[in-house]
Amino acid sequence: MKIVLASSNKHKVQEINDIVKSLGLDIEFILPPGDFDPVEDGKNFEENSYIKAYEAWKLSKTWVLADDSGLCIDALGGKPGIYSARYAETPALRIERVLKELDGINNRDAHFTCSMTLMNPQGEVEHKYQGICEGSIITEARGINGFGYDPIFLVKGDTRTMAELSEEEKNQISHRSVALRHILEYLQKITK
Ligand code: IMP
Repeated sequence: MKIVLASSNKHKVQEINDIVKSLGLDIEFILPPGDFDPVEDGKNFEENSYIKAYEAWKLSKTWVLADDSGLCIDALGGKPGIYSARYAETPALRIERVLKELDGINNRDAHFTCSMTLMNPQGEVEHKYQGICEGSIITEARGINGFGYDPIFLVKGDTRTMAELSEEEKNQISHRSVALRHILEYLQKITK
């Protein structure tokens, strides 16, 4: 079964296909045909995920999976949240901004969220799910793996940051993999 992933990010398709493969499933995610550049003007992750799903469905008219994710920091009232990708100009500057805003603050609790929307070939929301990965923000970046805020995100119950985990380890616990596993379980049930 082929499913269009509502993204233009090749790395993301690869990451998701790796998780699918590790579960031994006969599902392949592919990028949308044509230009995929939706305006993500939703008020939360769920709305943005829906916007992406619907845009990809209009281009493909088949099964679509969309995700929208970001980092939410308790002491910052959930910021950067849906603005995670645009919090500053570069990934390094985004990390710098977060560390500056948390300077002197003791409560460093945070979580990554991933909201997924599965749309059926009729353009209806077939299923949706929000995956969460809990952790906290450390004071100095550590590790070279992953992307985005991974180097400052200390995984709950571990002594390492997300950027110090291997790709396989991250794929076991990440917000994206939690949401994806749930969606895949649902898909397996309805395609049996
Ligand atoms: P997207 O919705 O998956 O494109 O993610 C939006 C932004 O959230 C990214 O550009 C990153 O800044 C941040 N983000 C999402 N997932 C992760 C992750 O697994 N690690 C680090 N940062 C992430």
